[in-house]
Amino acid sequence: MVSVVIPVYNEASNIELLMRGLDEVIEKLCERYSFEVIFVNDGSNDETYDIITSIADNKKYVKLIDLSRNFGNQIAVSAGINEAKGDIAITMDGDLQHPPAVIPQLLSEWEKGYEVVQAKRVQYRNPSFVRNILSIVYFYIMNHISSVKIEKDVSDFRLMDRKAVEYFKKVTERRRFVRGIVNWLGFRRSYIEYRINPRLQGNSTFSIRGLFNLAMAALTSFSLMPLKIASLLGVLITTFSSVLLLIISYSYFFVNKEIFRPIAFFAVLNALMGGIILV
Ligand code: UDP
Ligand code: MG
Repeated sequence: MVSVVIPVYNEASNIELLMRGLDEVIEKLCERYSFEVIFVNDGSNDETYDIITSIADNKKYVKLIDLSRNFGNQIAVSAGINEAKGDIAITMDGDLQHPPAVIPQLLSEWEKGYEVVQAKRVQYRNPSFVRNILSIVYFYIMNHISSVKIEKDVSDFRLMDRKAVEYFKKVTERRRFVRGIVNWLGFRRSYIEYRINPRLQGNSTFSIRGLFNLAMAALTSFSLMPLKIASLLGVLITTFSSVLLLIISYSYFFVNKEIFRPIAFFAVLNALMGGIILV
């Protein structure tokens, strides 16, 4: 069985069209695969919930996980993966940017023996200039300091086989960056390319703040760089203030007691403590 996992947050206007696309694929592949479609409603405040429940009433293979509030896309995807029963889990967005028609390609890579198949978008231009710049800077930083490579045109549109899913489930980070986790897991991987659709209805539900949080989760889970910077700073401050302390003590005892300034002494002592704590 193939589990298709779709996190949705206020996607009421897209779900029916998406379902139509999925049904076409499911019909085409029904002789070789059975399917379940798991929608994860991530605390939507539009008609998303009602639309999915009415679809699920008619179609046995459609399931709904209704999260108690908006947890964010990464948690929603993970919740769906956790509940997937299939031998294969495919994750995709619910805004039609990830075309269901690509699913057969993902599956044919799996048939070749790959355990993780990542869909990679081609010819994609981010609609907003600011987002474009941010994303370039972000990928530059990430790939220069982190321990796993994060490819630029890759999103959470991928296939994972049961083995990869089981290991994915063992990762329990709350602030998570799914792409990084999946890369970190390893396994035999393959890529397919697809043309990303512009968002059909509504705007990207990721705010700049949401993206920033995601970037921070990625940074702090996959890079020691922030810690290394803190340590280095600590070593520098410790060294520098130790030297100053020696000079101050020396001048107090051996040069001239008159020039001793308690405030300078305590400032340096304080810096030394700060440096030691940073280390
Ligand atoms: N999403 C979600 N929770 C959120 C934000 C987004 O489940 O808090 C879903 C959204 O409905 C969509 C997918 O995650 O199916 C990707 O979101 P979006 O299209 O807004 O992101 P982008 O394409 O800009 O990366
Ligand atoms: Mg989108």
